[in-house]
Amino acid sequence: MTAAALLISDMHLDEAKPVLTDILFRFLRGQARTAPELYLLGDLFNYYVGDDTDEPLVASFANEVKAVADSGTKVFAIHGNRDFLMAEKFAALGGLTILPDPTVRKIGGVDTLLTHGDRYCTNDKEYMQQRAMFRSPQGIQMILGKSLAERHVMAAHLRQKSIETQKAAGRPMDAGDVADDTLIKEMSEKSVHRLIHGHTHKPAEHQVTLPDGSKAERIVLSDWRDHGQALEIRSDGSFVRHELT
Ligand code: MN
Repeated sequence: MTAAALLISDMHLDEAKPVLTDILFRFLRGQARTAPELYLLGDLFNYYVGDDTDEPLVASFANEVKAVADSGTKVFAIHGNRDFLMAEKFAALGGLTILPDPTVRKIGGVDTLLTHGDRYCTNDKEYMQQRAMFRSPQGIQMILGKSLAERHVMAAHLRQKSIETQKAAGRPMDAGDVADDTLIKEMSEKSVHRLIHGHTHKPAEHQVTLPDGSKAERIVLSDWRDHGQALEIRSDGSFVRHELT
């Protein structure tokens, strides 16, 4: 059975974690090119301060992804909460298309709702308020109006906050959980029976029941803590996870 698509998320690329970068680049030079489509479902970077960044890691990642696109694999990305400032320049450098969150795509014959996932963390009111503020056109304009140096300070502050949350709650800031009622409503409205997301760092497959009584599935991608993982959807709609080391 051939691959219809490969999906990864939450690589949290960071200069401080060269081993994970190496694993990712090996994947991009090899297996990623064997599928017609590659989806990057957010939080590719641990932080992303804007398309005008001068970080070598952003340039080298874009370069590697561009080579995947040039090999004939279509590459798509969805914003995560850490890299929602990826914009046209980054997309052009990487030869990729940034899709709205969420987006429905037919993958392996199955209508599939693709999302980073944080939009469904609706039980965390504070998070949702911050999300709405930062990601509004005004919020983005406010951030990009700051100097690169100031944005790096903001990013460092958010990373520190994440570490403190992790200490206090025993989990990273990203690892809240999605609210089933919110995503069930959206799956029902869009008439899809498969949802794939990242963000929560809780890789699993969940069965959910839509309001019309039909069964649907929610597939959660793995984060890249100490190694990588890619989800392969085959052309018959079945799927398999690949551990990447
Ligand atoms: Mn996230």
